[in-house]
Amino acid sequence: MTSLDDLPIRDDLRGLKPYGAPQEPVPVQLNVNENTHPIPEAVATDIVMSLAQAVLGANRYPDREFTSLRESLSAYLGHGLAPENIWAANGSNEVLQHVLQAFGGPGRSVLGFPPTYSMHSIIASGTGTRWVPADRDQEYTLSAETVVAAIEREQTDIVFLCSPNNPTGTPLDLDVIAAAYNATDGIVLVDEAYAEFADGDTALTLLEGRPRLLVSRTMSKAFAFAGIRLGYLAADPAVIDALRLVRLPYHLSSLTQAAAVAALAHSSEMLAMVDDIKRQRDRMIEALPALGYLPLPSAANFVLFGGVANSHDLFVKLFNEGILIRDVGIPHHLRVTAGTEAETDIFLEALARLG
Ligand SMILES: *Cc1c(COP(=O)(O)O)cnc(C)c1O
Repeated sequence: MTSLDDLPIRDDLRGLKPYGAPQEPVPVQLNVNENTHPIPEAVATDIVMSLAQAVLGANRYPDREFTSLRESLSAYLGHGLAPENIWAANGSNEVLQHVLQAFGGPGRSVLGFPPTYSMHSIIASGTGTRWVPADRDQEYTLSAETVVAAIEREQTDIVFLCSPNNPTGTPLDLDVIAAAYNATDGIVLVDEAYAEFADGDTALTLLEGRPRLLVSRTMSKAFAFAGIRLGYLAADPAVIDALRLVRLPYHLSSLTQAAAVAALAHSSEMLAMVDDIKRQRDRMIEALPALGYLPLPSAANFVLFGGVANSHDLFVKLFNEGILIRDVGIPHHLRVTAGTEAETDIFLEALARLG
């Protein structure tokens, strides 16, 4: 039997582990921060009609410039953004890959602040970009001083910031992002996958006059669209030109484009559940201390909580009850997605009983 080690794989990929969040068909799945509310049926019907139309034209390659989709996305984002400011791909993971293909790669480096989204370092290794981790402050916060000191010390080509940060839920002040931008001549990317759950300001407001600032978003979380795969980015049009150099032609299928355009035409209905999800998040933050756990403040649709005697044990106990949450590898901590009210009831009840 051939093993990976027998193959002439790139030296820098030897010994690495692929992304591997468990996918288990249990009743309560709160482990990858999806929106656990289904797409409203009226919107789903509209999406299906658009897909039917697109299928009839599927003998042709899709619009390589995904023009309608960029129009829909810029209208959704607002902040004076035009279609020329927008890029999109199959999930924001692919957007980040395009960014690292264009601005990173062999001989180049990207700075990040773990614990943060695990895909940031994995996409770095896939593109041959050196991943440079730097420490956070107390309770996983990040001050301008800490970020600027790391940027000046490490001198990387790219800086990745994540706001709110996954897996901690920590929001980032805009003045930290502005200070990071001023401290480097490189690219500063803010991953705003959870922006719709945050009450604070978005880095979109900083784009004007900052051509090296990139803000990535996704339809996977607030928009309940994880299965369709649509992520996007806003930046100066020159950045979009750079990303055109590395994408594969026709990377967004006509079906993906049609589905996303149809969903964006119903953005208020698609986002109707965001307030309820935030309520469930806040409910967990309120209830966890009484159960002996230490939740961190969160501006996203999940809660990281400490005070867990044995994370693996509790993870398994919950799993055996049909509740899947996430062991993100931080000792004595677990992360749970805010789901529906019923899912939150089940989770909190099980935790009270098992803890
Ligand atoms: C979930 C998540 C994404 C989303 O990735 P998609 O490829 O758009 O599904 C991006 N960034 C962070 C920080 C995330 O947690």
